[in-house]
Amino acid sequence: MTATDPVANLSTLIRCPSVTPAEGGALAALQSMLSPLGFAVDRVMATEDGTPDIENLYARLGTDGPHLMFAGHTDVVPVGDEAAWTHGPFSADIADGQMYGRGAVDMKGGIACFAAAVARHIEKHGPPQGSISFLITGDEEGPAINGTVKLLEWAAAKGEHWDACLVGEPTNPDQLGDMIKIGRRGSLSGTITVHGVQGHAAYPHLADSPVRGILALTQALMDPPFDGGTDNFQPSNLEVTTIDVANKAVNVIPARASASFNIRFNDSWDADSLKAEIVARLDHAAAESPLRPGRPPVRYDIVWSERPSHVFLTRNNALIASLSGAVEAVTGREPKLSTTGGTSDARFIKDHCPVVEFGLVGQTMHMVDERVAVADLETLTQIYETFISRWFGHAAD
Ligand SMILES: [Zn+2]
Repeated sequence: MTATDPVANLSTLIRCPSVTPAEGGALAALQSMLSPLGFAVDRVMATEDGTPDIENLYARLGTDGPHLMFAGHTDVVPVGDEAAWTHGPFSADIADGQMYGRGAVDMKGGIACFAAAVARHIEKHGPPQGSISFLITGDEEGPAINGTVKLLEWAAAKGEHWDACLVGEPTNPDQLGDMIKIGRRGSLSGTITVHGVQGHAAYPHLADSPVRGILALTQALMDPPFDGGTDNFQPSNLEVTTIDVANKAVNVIPARASASFNIRFNDSWDADSLKAEIVARLDHAAAESPLRPGRPPVRYDIVWSERPSHVFLTRNNALIASLSGAVEAVTGREPKLSTTGGTSDARFIKDHCPVVEFGLVGQTMHMVDERVAVADLETLTQIYETFISRWFGHAAD
């Protein structure tokens, strides 16, 4: 039994209830698909105090270079209101040409198609001149502490190195062939707290309102824009995501106010230069706000989120051209090379090798009735198979 049929592969995977952090049988099922193809499979347990233990999988076919990695995750987000699903979230039922199930597009579908593509490649041409590996985590939708980062470290420590990576996350907004991701914006979050002096709302000169302070500071973060965008990235954007005062009395000036923000930033910045810009804006607004005439500067402190995501852009032409050419050859459509959207595990992989992302259509990911067009599974498998041939062809040049 080989894994050449992506529909069979996906229905097997969907029937494993692998809601983070549960393995749910999904990695075992993948192992059963890959071992008969000749892959050496390792199941790697990762642990860390205060987080659930997570099982991951690394599988490699071949021992020589060039070495192509496929990366993804078998864990899925919770099903939400199970009664609201038209077909069971772990049923893999097919109706009207759609296969239903949590993870259908995000991203058991991508894994099912890549496994099928590799199986077909081997059936036609034998094993590739080089190596193919699967780096699959069970911790992408959760805290992401015991997932891709640790699996990469584990593999690198035993001497693995890669020439290129394809991540199979759903990247297409509407139709298969829309979009390849060749980079991602960075992400940085922080919380500002303004310290005022509590008092009677009728005697503001005896108090110091932190609400005036927090408004001045958050305004300075939102205006003016941080940049106008770059060749490959949209403009950086900061959103104030909450402002908290928690004051229940209308006649009391509170003592404290805080606000949190998240900024998605482009390659005009790195986390450090961005932090410096933000602090400069805050200090300026703290010193001179029209909301607090004649008052001393706003007293505030700022706490940064622990792990900012760094911006990256992949420029490896052999990788991008192989994938983009494969998409065009199979679908007749030229994919947009994009850096939009949220972060992904590609941000960790880019420290090891050039990385691009291409998978299914993302419209129903994380929703009730997550589903994939069965026809798309066949098309994506053909794209991946063409990509594999082209990439090894390029790499051999
Ligand atoms: Zn995903």
